[in-house]
Parts: sequence; C-alpha cells; structure tokens
Amino acid sequence: MRTVIAVLTLLLASILVFAQNKPARSSYDAEAMAPPVKTYSPELMKTLGTLRDAALGDDYAYRQVAYLTDNIGPRPTGWSQTDAAVHYVAEQLRMLGLEVHLEEVHVPRWIRGAESAELVEYPGRAEGAVQRIVLTALGGNTPTPEGGITAPLVVVHNFDELKTLGRERVEGKIVLFDVPFDEKKAMAGFWGEAYGEAVDYRGRGAKEAAALGAIACLVRSVGGADHRLAHTGHNTPAGIPAGAVTGEDAALIARLAAQGKVRMHLVLQAHTQEDRVSFNVIGDLKGSEHPEQVVVVSGHLDSWDLGTGAIDDAAGVAVAMETAELVHRLGLHPRRTIRVIAWMDEENGGHGHDTYAKDYAAEFSNHVAAIESDLGSDHPLGFAVKAVPDALPWLAPAQEILRSFGANLIKPTEHSPGADISPLAGAGVPAFGVIEDGRTYFNYHHTAADTLDKVNPQSLRENAAAMAVMGYALADMEQVLPR
Ligand SMILES: [Zn+2]
Repeated sequence: MRTVIAVLTLLLASILVFAQNKPARSSYDAEAMAPPVKTYSPELMKTLGTLRDAALGDDYAYRQVAYLTDNIGPRPTGWSQTDAAVHYVAEQLRMLGLEVHLEEVHVPRWIRGAESAELVEYPGRAEGAVQRIVLTALGGNTPTPEGGITAPLVVVHNFDELKTLGRERVEGKIVLFDVPFDEKKAMAGFWGEAYGEAVDYRGRGAKEAAALGAIACLVRSVGGADHRLAHTGHNTPAGIPAGAVTGEDAALIARLAAQGKVRMHLVLQAHTQEDRVSFNVIGDLKGSEHPEQVVVVSGHLDSWDLGTGAIDDAAGVAVAMETAELVHRLGLHPRRTIRVIAWMDEENGGHGHDTYAKDYAAEFSNHVAAIESDLGSDHPLGFAVKAVPDALPWLAPAQEILRSFGANLIKPTEHSPGADISPLAGAGVPAFGVIEDGRTYFNYHHTAADTLDKVNPQSLRENAAAMAVMGYALADMEQVLPR
C-alpha cells in the first residue's frame, strides 16, 4: 500500500466505525430489497452458498500464497523473480481455463544495495563507542556516495517544526521526522487513521527537508510492533537519500539529540533503474451471456524486498485466483466475464493500474464492478464500496450469504477502496475493497516480517469466500449494478 492509500484507508476505517447506512438503505428495508429479489434467482443464491462453503473448506489460496512467498520470495518491481511470479500466476490461471493476457507495464527496477547507519558523535559517548542504527531505504531514495555521508542530525516532530527551524538550521544536515505510528489507535480499530497520520511524513518528508537544504532525510518507521523492525515504502523522490529508522532507533536518536549534538554516518545505496518491462497478469473466465461485461477480482503481485510479501499482497492475488479456481472446479458459467488481475507495481509508483487505465479506457463502460484485496489476510469483515447509493440494496442477498462467517458489512465510501482499482472507481465503475481486520496489519507491513507465517489459513479461506461470493454475485446477477 502506498501513500495515497493512507487517506482512503483512514476514511474507510472511520466509516467502518462510525457510519451507518441511511435507514432507507438498510439491508433489511423491504422496499430497498425489491431490486435484488428480482435480480438474484434461487439458483444464484444456491450457487453463492456452494461457493462460500467450498472456499471455507479448501486451501487453494493458501497454497498459492505459500508458493509465491516460500518458493519465489520477495517480488519488487523489475526483479527477475517478480517475472517468475508473473509467469507462475499466468500458468496457474491458464490451467483453470482462463484466457490469459500479459499486459506490458513499464516499471522502475528497485535495487537496494548497501545500507547502514551509526551515530559517531553524541552527548556522553563513551570513548570509541558507536551506536548502530537499524534502518531501511525508501522507494524514492537517491543513493549516498559509496562511502556514505557524515553529518549532524536534526530531529523534528512535524512539518511546522521543520519550517520553524528554517534553512539556517536544516541546511547540510540529516533531518529525522520522529512521528510515531499510534498502535493504540490501530488496536482499537482505527488502523487507517494511525497509518494516515504517520505515512504523510514518509511520503513527502524528504521533499520538505530537501527544500530547506537537508542532505538526507529519515523518518520513523510507519507501523507498529516493538521488535526493532524497519518499515520500508515509497516516498516521493526528493533528490536526497531517504530512509526509515525503527521506532526504537528513532526514540534513541531523539533522546540523545535532546541532550546535545548528534552526528550520523549514513550509507543508503538503494536506487531505481527506470523503464524495465514487467506485466499485469489478466485472466478472463468468459461470461456465458455477456462476455463483454467484466467483473474484476484482484490483488497486487509485486511486493517490497525485505519480507516475502505474504500479507502485502500475495494474499490478495491468491484469493482472486481462488475465485476463478472455484468457478472452474464447480463447473459454473456466470453470465459475465470474471477477470482476475494480478497487478504489477502497486508499491513503487502504480504503473500497473495506470497502464491498464490507458489500455482499457474504451472498455471501462463495460466494467460492471471491480474488487481488490490489499489490507492483508486477517478475518474479513465485509466490503468498502464506492457506488451510487441506489446500488447498495442490490448487494443485500450476497450479504446474507456472507453473514455466516461475518464478512457481510457493506460500507459506502466516497473514494476508491483500493489503489489499483482507483482508475476504475474514478470512471464510475462500482468499486469494492475487502475490509480485513487491520489491527495488526501495520505491524508487519513493508517489513522483513511480512512472511507466510503471518497468514492465518482460516482467515485466508474466509477472504477467498468473501471475494468469490461477491465476485460471482456481481457477474451473475440478472442486471448489472446501477451507476
Ligand atoms: Zn499492498
């Protein structure tokens, strides 16, 4: 998930907690029920139940996450093993009888290189002592010279404080934004707010610091967990080195800087090479009556390099694949085309969905809905939905099917509920984002700890069921959702 999503997630979480549908839009309002009753045949309701039960009873999605993470591993844009993941997913979809198209996407190639930091001067430093700092480079990093840089550190807690210091006290220094991720908010259900508050500094901190003459910028890692984990992510390229230190290291630096002068030696060699070719994987399970009408089910295949990208977002790709696998295995023939998309480069610029928006612009009027899963693999609570209010009652029968395992919330949102479906949402296509329980998601997000063991097999089955039921309902309802 990138910076832009912070705002959406924030909104989503607040909706989740506070918003209620207007009474007239309640799932149980008799009048509001009228359209869906006509458009969901008894056969469709039975099929949705069968899909749900099949998904809750198998581990197809888990096996896909396991292969993508344990066998392939990290999948940053432009890496050869990311290409291996592209070809693996394409082959799996072909085996399910899908028509597969690899859509060419030009992406930056992320190369991490050496990275290290230590405090070489600080108040009360014992003779010869050096404090090693745990950190990671960020996506928009400009590399330091090979031997690194050594410079004084200045610690700030917000943008105003930086501005108050002014060029005079920032120029030639390394700026650290010490802005903590609020774990209490996250654990209370406000994970989107917690992320949104902190990620703004990762996104534009380096740009603001560079504007005042800083020679490098560090942020406190955006995420929870007190295990000295560095959280990487994209930042707006600012022409200076940019990294994220762990929460523990940010606190250490802040304590020492409060006592006096701190100097750091910093090596951040990460950089990107532009314009390497990669692919969105697009697999069509052709509709029986209206093959030109498309329902997208999707997640993103690329990941950061520190972990193996299990919760972000092999899980999303895998549950989208499972929708196709279930339809294939159960011998179903939905009216409309179900299109599985494994997006490329959600993390480092969004070139995959930008390219799709260009290549498929003429067909957006035939995209009847789009679903994305990119908030991990914990228990699904339902869907955030960007659609016209009149569309929501049409979802009620599908909600009834999802209710048995608690994935039946429908929360309207004004913004795209996912980064990769945002061009579709912007064009008025009804857009759905799976709302996973995100309380611990940001503990592992973009860290070395985003690995297969964080995926709970039962929760992943529930996610597969949620996407399959909603995807199939949208692809087989008698009429399409109003828009
Ligand atoms: Zn993601």
